[in-house]
Amino acid sequence: MANRPKVLILGGTAEAVELANTAAADHDITYSLAGRTRTPTLPADVTVRSGGFGGAVALTRWLTSYRIAAVVDATHPFADTIARNAVLACVERSLPHLKLMRPPWEPLSGDDWHVVPDIASAATALPHIGGRAFLSVGRQELGAFAGIEGVALVIRSIDPPESANPLPEAVYLTGRGPFTFDRETDLLKANDIDVVVSKNAGGDATYAKIAAARALSIPVVMVARPAPPPGATVETVDAALDWLNSLETAT
Ligand code: NAP
Repeated sequence: MANRPKVLILGGTAEAVELANTAAADHDITYSLAGRTRTPTLPADVTVRSGGFGGAVALTRWLTSYRIAAVVDATHPFADTIARNAVLACVERSLPHLKLMRPPWEPLSGDDWHVVPDIASAATALPHIGGRAFLSVGRQELGAFAGIEGVALVIRSIDPPESANPLPEAVYLTGRGPFTFDRETDLLKANDIDVVVSKNAGGDATYAKIAAARALSIPVVMVARPAPPPGATVETVDAALDWLNSLETAT
């Protein structure tokens, strides 16, 4: 369909895929990935690009050359570099910008959370809390756990570790969410886990390990989110769709 507004969706989350699939009915969507996952989940019938833009200035140029009318940053709550770059580029180009970000998890009765500000602090805290840890924090973050003593690591990621693996002694599992409570409970038990390390990702897809830890009275080192980018933010795909549709009626 001609003359549909061109929208860049910065992706890498389930919500980004859902938004791209739905918004494609009325918008010309380009779905952008960092290119870290070997077989990412992709939206259907939209343009997909993969790989970094080369920083905020290069992203600004990219938005100009592709005549993008609006940007929805639907990246993971911990993807704060691309989030900041997207804000800078949109301000530079005077483009509408929206952050779609699911709310964080909140501790419930029975949870034993040790909240830390970042991954490095999680690694520092770990030996004081447990001796056999389950990590599912993303392969890029594993270097922070190199050199900690007295803690065995069981690490789950979507893809297997790179050849330049900073933690050769760890046990590696692969898996892609959503995960179930029963499966996560079995995993924690089967691997004798006594502490879980998690980013406060929010959402349902990876929450089962938190619920399983609560049920098994296992403490969780919970990494707090980085500060969100400035500007308009919504928590749901429906709200992001409303925002996109309101842009059209405003122009
Ligand atoms: P980040 O630290 O904010 O970004 C690092 C660099 O990767 C950015 O400066 C940008 O490169 C590039 N990049 C990131 N997201 C991109 C996208 N959607 N399209 C094009 N380039 C992108 O991000 P990250 O934490 O490494 O996460 C990378 C991707 O994985 C994100 O798309 C995110 O949604 C997804 N993800 C992240 C996590 C997590 O825990 N961080 C978890 C699940 C999924 P240039 O500067 O060269 O443009």
